[in-house]
Amino acid sequence: MIVKRKCWVSNLQFLGFSCKEGVNLIARGKNKRWGICYLCGKEGIVTDDHVPPQCLAPLADDAIFYKLPAHESCNNALSVHESRFRDFVVSASKDGVREAENAFENMQRNFRRRGNEEQSGFLNRDFFRLYENIEQREGYTPGGIYVGPVVGIKPAQDLDYKSVLTKIARGLHYHHNGAIIPDNYDVYADFLFSDFERHATHMQHLNITGQMGDFFAFRGTSAKDEPKSGIWYMCFYRSVIGMVGFRQPKELE
Ligand SMILES: [Zn+2]
Repeated sequence: MIVKRKCWVSNLQFLGFSCKEGVNLIARGKNKRWGICYLCGKEGIVTDDHVPPQCLAPLADDAIFYKLPAHESCNNALSVHESRFRDFVVSASKDGVREAENAFENMQRNFRRRGNEEQSGFLNRDFFRLYENIEQREGYTPGGIYVGPVVGIKPAQDLDYKSVLTKIARGLHYHHNGAIIPDNYDVYADFLFSDFERHATHMQHLNITGQMGDFFAFRGTSAKDEPKSGIWYMCFYRSVIGMVGFRQPKELE
């Protein structure tokens, strides 16, 4: 396959196309093209990465996602964690959001997947990952009002939710500010389970805002004089809020 592709490229070069144009022509059908990856910032063959991950709303209209150029390897690097992330936010979200229900069905299908555990009468690992992480915690409304202890789900140990939140925020930052976050930047990423009042005050000052169906909404901005620094609040299924901040490292200021 690779040999054939090389041959095509050299034929195209012979016909007067450059190597990059050749790659673009061959790859057009798969939406592959030559470009700069929004995740690593390097040039190469890129395809469309859905932001946020499509697994959050598998039946939603494809057109509402941002499609950003990424190497297939950079795009796929977190796919296992993206599906665990989906399991977590769906489980932690309120009822009545259609996209959450669609994603929930996918999650259940995943739980019923054939496996050794199922044959011996148990559900698979993904189920236990959620089950083991059910906890009682202090509950707050989105406005920050204390509602007493509630049963919640905390992210599992083997879910790298911070990287998933960061990847989505990198996508928002690239789409809205045109900036790729350098590797050496300080990144803060976490879910917000409390302290809503303080964050709500910050959120009012953020000028970029958007909504995709009922499954994803965001609010953010970049720093005035430093477009690669910024902050993003993301809300999943109108229930779970994550926050990511990018900042130029102190030594470079
Ligand atoms: Zn890349």
